[in-house]
Amino acid sequence: MGELLRTTDLHRLFRMGDAGVPAVDGIDLSVGEGEFVSIMGPSGCGKSTLLYLLGGLDRPTRGEIHLGGHRVDRLSRSRWARLRRRQIGFVFQTFNLVENLTVLQNVQLPGMLGARPGRRAATRRRAVALLEELGVGDKAKALPGVLSGGQRQRVAIARALMNEPPLLLADEPTGNLDSATTTDVLGLLRRFHAAGQTVVMVTHDPRVATTAAQRLLAMRDGRVVDDVRLNGGTGAARALRDLIDR
Ligand code: ADP
Ligand code: MG
Repeated sequence: MGELLRTTDLHRLFRMGDAGVPAVDGIDLSVGEGEFVSIMGPSGCGKSTLLYLLGGLDRPTRGEIHLGGHRVDRLSRSRWARLRRRQIGFVFQTFNLVENLTVLQNVQLPGMLGARPGRRAATRRRAVALLEELGVGDKAKALPGVLSGGQRQRVAIARALMNEPPLLLADEPTGNLDSATTTDVLGLLRRFHAAGQTVVMVTHDPRVATTAAQRLLAMRDGRVVDDVRLNGGTGAARALRDLIDR
């Protein structure tokens, strides 16, 4: 298994007046191609900041990020934007849909950016197919405002998968969902992973963290304090107990 993602001595310090908040405080991480990694940790420990750094939505104050063997932490904004469009899907807890575009337009958006005019019909077909696959095909013409939380998250996932990114970064993708919808969304992520893609998912729900992932990282105070393999079933339960007991 090749390495997809690597960070070395990664730091993100937020300046707050005279003080500084070390949101990410020295993280060395390696994620292999095709891994499904969950990240858990208390609120404020730096999970979102880490994910934003990995996706190029924020910049480290120190350290390096390598994606597919290329150093990316010093890329220009436009290079990052292009890279992200092809390589990374992002799913946020709050969905981040564009409210005045229809569901279909939201999903098409990543496919349209930078696409040649001749690609547009294909983009539309793929967006329609994704929405159908995710069970919200009948909402294509609706505005996001009329959707339930679960429907919005399905649309957000369809959008993240639009360009078939090898890497999916998900920040509490089930944080605002009921348990039935959570199970559905986890099923979608699992299928995505089974198709060979790499998933890094932040969650504070132990069940969500261990259902689909093969590896669990525990964060505290901007650092990774544990990194365990999950073998499903009892292995996952034991790993969690170990984390809680320490
Ligand atoms: P988590 O996602 O684990 O809840 P975050 O990554 O959102 O944690 O935040 C980590 C720390 O960094 C927190 O102390 C938070 O207040 C701080 N922080 C996050 N974003 C900013 C920001 N834009 N400006 C200042 N401080 C921030
Ligand atoms: Mg967060």
